[in-house]
Amino acid sequence: MNQVQKGSLFVISGPSGVGKGTLVNLLRAKCPEIALSTSVTTRKPRPGEINGTHYFFIEKEVFLYRLKHGDFLEWNEFAKNYYGTDRNIVETAVQQGHNLLLEIDVKGALQVKEKKPEAILIFIEPPSLEELKARLFKRKTESEREIQERLSIVKSEIGKKHLFDYSIVNDDLELAFSELENIIMNQINRTEIYKK
Ligand code: 5GP
Repeated sequence: MNQVQKGSLFVISGPSGVGKGTLVNLLRAKCPEIALSTSVTTRKPRPGEINGTHYFFIEKEVFLYRLKHGDFLEWNEFAKNYYGTDRNIVETAVQQGHNLLLEIDVKGALQVKEKKPEAILIFIEPPSLEELKARLFKRKTESEREIQERLSIVKSEIGKKHLFDYSIVNDDLELAFSELENIIMNQINRTEIYKK
């Protein structure tokens, strides 16, 4: 049938600290053929983070210049830093038939849906706000002030989960991963059938 079927675009989103990164790492370890888009950010690297692997770390002036030139499919200012998805990375991967994952915040995810309605949006929820707070304090990557900033955004993010195609509660990691894997593999298999 359709020989030029494009790859699927998956957007994994949800509050900071909810475990999106862990789920995405598990998924990539199990399905290395699914590509992950590397975002661009003005945030400073955390210990161990590598430029070009975890993010492309750039200066604010460069980000704003690129934004003005329409380089980003979506972007957001989150806890005083800018984050964006390189439009080129997404267009090229999908056109070449690759399945691509974006791990981005809720505002960014909704921008992607507006521009690419065929994207599959998956919301990862914490079991409770208390649990999320505990996780953010435990991972010790932000100061207390930064954690409070992140938590103040969470309620409005959770209020938007009905705009997503799927929602997964990340309470038991194994269970959450299996739900995520099912959603993604079902979509990929569906697209593969149309390719034949
Ligand atoms: P962190 O600073 O913890 O790496 O990321 C903060 C938040 O920004 C997380 O919710 C993360 O998913 C989100 N994020 C990472 N990359 C992007 C991006 O390219 N665009 C948007 N909108 N959010 C992003």
